Amino acid sequence: MILDLRTIFVTGALTCFIIGAMQLMTFATGRFTRSPVWWGVSSLCIGTGLLGAAFRGTIPDIVSIEFANTALLAGCLLLLLGIRSFAGRELNWFGFGVVLLGSWALLALSPGIEGYSTRVMVVATVMALCDAAIVREAVRLGRQEGLRSAWLLAILFAPTVVIYAGRIALAALDRVGTTLFPEESGATGWLAASGVAFIILRGQALLMLAAERSNRMLATLARRDSLTGAMNRSGLEQWLAQQSRGERRAALLLVDIDHFKRLNDTLGHAAGDRILRLFADSVREQLRSTDILARQGGDEFAIILPDVGVREAVRVAERIRHAFRDKIADLAEIRLQPTLSIGVAEIELGGRELDDLLVEADEALYRAKRLGRDRVQAQLKPAA
Ligand code: GH3
Ligand code: MG
Repeated sequence: MILDLRTIFVTGALTCFIIGAMQLMTFATGRFTRSPVWWGVSSLCIGTGLLGAAFRGTIPDIVSIEFANTALLAGCLLLLLGIRSFAGRELNWFGFGVVLLGSWALLALSPGIEGYSTRVMVVATVMALCDAAIVREAVRLGRQEGLRSAWLLAILFAPTVVIYAGRIALAALDRVGTTLFPEESGATGWLAASGVAFIILRGQALLMLAAERSNRMLATLARRDSLTGAMNRSGLEQWLAQQSRGERRAALLLVDIDHFKRLNDTLGHAAGDRILRLFADSVREQLRSTDILARQGGDEFAIILPDVGVREAVRVAERIRHAFRDKIADLAEIRLQPTLSIGVAEIELGGRELDDLLVEADEALYRAKRLGRDRVQAQLKPAA
């Protein structure tokens, strides 16, 4: 069956317009960052390029060749810039302008039937380089951020690099014919038709990428306490639920700031907030990357030290108490220097409710308060 190439080009253009509109609408919902705007504009440019090319021979060449191809390449480059912006990388607008102007000039310098192979080479080279750069960027996103849809994106952009490379080779050998729309479309027709399906898949993969990252950000936000950056209670519960059942032991430190209410009442809530942040910072400086700091609420925090026994945990607790005291001492304006009371207990991770785990440490903390505060107390009955 011979496929009609012009019809495929028009279908591709309309598909691009629809995908572009969808991407722009996705941005308008406010759920994502600005990335869908880039992708939307890129799709509209590619659609414009395909539509212009579809009318080759019936409208002036400057529109169907120079303008259409440059619009197509602008779309490809904008897609690359959009993915780079999504990845938080620098954007080279100068390079963008140079490539577009250079392509326009080369296309204009290769008119008519004789210039067809050169034009194919120019367009295929820029598109191959763009898609290769997109694959590289996607692999990087997959590796560094662990975004699964980035791998899908890499898979969707890799085949066209090979196809364009093949087209460059054929053009160099002068074996691409002399016109975009030959009488017999042959394999090119099927390739172009598959290209339209790819446009849809790629558009979808890009939106999935933005959705995956935004979901991840929301999940992270939902697990964190915004004031101190520590985990919140529900984050800690989730973390505990993820721990596999078994013999893994850990130390639990329950920390409460002494007379915090008095400090709040005399210096104000803002000063209280500052102390809470300072506390969290000073604790983080004392912990390993695998340790957990969570805000239980108010001025009470839980710290979990995996694979650490009570004795070692008491040493860590003393270090935390001293580090906080040193940090507070640097704040000359705070005359009422708050101290810490800490209860230490040994726990078993995996399959236990947070409230059950807290009992012993809570009891030790209560004792620290009763004995006069500003001290560390360990559970009386070490775990068997
Ligand atoms: P104790 O030594 O027995 O722990 O005395 P305390 O005053 O620290 O005890 P209490 O738990 O009664 O006080 C905690 C205070 O923490 C009460 C509340 O005003 C304050 N608080 C709770 N959340 C916040 C917060 O987010 N910011 C600030 N600035 N204060 C908070
Ligand atoms: Mg307190």
